[in-house]
Amino acid sequence: MVCFYFLVNQTRQVRQCKPTTGLCSRCGGKASVADMKTATSFCYVLFYWKSWKTIMCTFCGTILKTY
Ligand SMILES: [Zn+2]
Repeated sequence: MVCFYFLVNQTRQVRQCKPTTGLCSRCGGKASVADMKTATSFCYVLFYWKSWKTIMCTFCGTILKTY
């Protein structure tokens, strides 16, 4: 079943990013609301994707909160 994991590919994209109030708990950088998109492909064919909102740090990329 090892090759199965090589065929399944998951990518995470930030579609939109808006600054928001709040600071990162790790580095103290500015937090922003991001529209994320997770795409899962199998054998390079996209078969599943979902979009979700999250609050992430613009400086270190830490995800502070997900909706
Ligand atoms: Zn940070």
